[in-house]
Amino acid sequence: MPAPITTLTAPEPLTALDRCDNCPAAARVRTTFANNHDLLFCGHCYRKHRAALEGAASSIDAEHEDW
Ligand SMILES: [Zn+2]
Repeated sequence: MPAPITTLTAPEPLTALDRCDNCPAAARVRTTFANNHDLLFCGHCYRKHRAALEGAASSIDAEHEDW
């Protein structure tokens, strides 16, 4: 039986201290997966992987939508 999906505490907003998981740039996008694992991406890396992420992530929080 999978655990019921519950709403956890709201994720903390990304700050200048959050770094992209793929390169040293500042994180701009938080992608959360079904197992509650999350990955942070800068705008560049997010754009690069966007199609795959949008298919795989359970939620995507972007600071800017105009990428
Ligand atoms: Zn990056």
